[in-house]
Amino acid sequence: GSIFSTLPETPLDEPFAVNGAYKQDCNAQKVNLGIGVYRTSEGAAWPLRVVEETEKQIYETGDVNRHEYLAIQGDQEFLTLASGLVFGFGEDKDSEPSMTEQQRQRVVSIQTVSGTGANRLGAELLARNVRPGCVWIPDPTWANHYTIWDLAGVPKKGYPYYDATYKTFDFEGTFRTLSTSAKANDVVILHACAHNPTGADPTQEQWKMLAQLCKEKGIIPFFDLAYQGFASGDAKKDAWAIRYFFQELHEVEFCVAQSFSKNFGLYGQRVGALHVALSSTATNDTASKLHANLCHLVRGEYSMAPRGGAEIVKTVLGNEHLRNKWQEDLTTMSQRIQLMRNALFNELIKLGTPGDWKHVINQASCFIGMFTYIGLTENQVHAMTERHHIYLLKSGRISISGLNEKNVRYVAMAIDDVIR
Ligand code: PMP
Repeated sequence: GSIFSTLPETPLDEPFAVNGAYKQDCNAQKVNLGIGVYRTSEGAAWPLRVVEETEKQIYETGDVNRHEYLAIQGDQEFLTLASGLVFGFGEDKDSEPSMTEQQRQRVVSIQTVSGTGANRLGAELLARNVRPGCVWIPDPTWANHYTIWDLAGVPKKGYPYYDATYKTFDFEGTFRTLSTSAKANDVVILHACAHNPTGADPTQEQWKMLAQLCKEKGIIPFFDLAYQGFASGDAKKDAWAIRYFFQELHEVEFCVAQSFSKNFGLYGQRVGALHVALSSTATNDTASKLHANLCHLVRGEYSMAPRGGAEIVKTVLGNEHLRNKWQEDLTTMSQRIQLMRNALFNELIKLGTPGDWKHVINQASCFIGMFTYIGLTENQVHAMTERHHIYLLKSGRISISGLNEKNVRYVAMAIDDVIR
């Protein structure tokens, strides 16, 4: 016997399980559209060129302190640059330095174990101190949101995110649900851009109405920002919603879970930050207490976030030459993904596959980023894998970046086959 013999069953993590099944498949034509990682046109992993250059540079400086402990909050210079990227501090060259400084002081930032760790730390902070009645989670969402808020012990409710008929963000459903049922101090999870898994985002007008709703009802927005710059190729554009909430709603306090996994290709390095935007009337004392509380939570969990990846991000964001190179790499990634969206659409049209495929490329309004809901049933997804060795999530989410010139026609033919 064992004290662990009565442990409960835990659910498999679907993206990692699908990835594992793909790896075990020996078929030469297999295609991995499961996990959300960037792949080149050869289907290979891609360390960003700017990251390779920066790694060499860091290594060559031979800083003897490079393996020392960070502070509990993480690397302050990294945090200043990371929050600048989210909120745009100092980007507007005409704005008064004192204004920028005032704005900066409204944000408390802590380095985290990537985006997941930021989501987790934010959930823990709110669960312990704000005690929300519930957290409103978009249906569907990144499945880890359920686990994270479960572990934090906050009751979960869903809001209808996706309109399957029109293949768009379900603004009416979302607005109706939150305005009739959400209470003050409830949390609402919002994907800041490139919604995972659907690829459908609110328009700017819809964001404005959601912001107003949060303000009127006292709902606490919690932005998950996992694809800044990666989605559109433009970091500023991808942060639009967050910057709008920050600049236009001075009373609404909110969290941002920032990840550098995708936009720097630093998946295994675990680079991220949690930013808490305070109301403009919060005192400095509140800001320092908040900072201390976050540090306390981090200290008890793992003392501090890891150092190596944050060093790379800090070096790039703090240097104009490297930052420009980063921009080039973002463009490379986002353009290849867009190209593959178009290629898949064209192949489906050529095949005359039954259905309306415009949503795959309809990026102007809604479909953006790494993923799209291709619109297959669970049985059809099963057939994609069984008959064609193509791996995707059972919701029909595909990771566009698994497509390339060599396999896109094969994938389109498989979709055509399972639909007919
Ligand atoms: N949020 C969303 C919506 C994501 O898609 C991801 C990555 N799959 C994350 C957070 C966090 O990823 P990481 O922990 O690697 O930053």
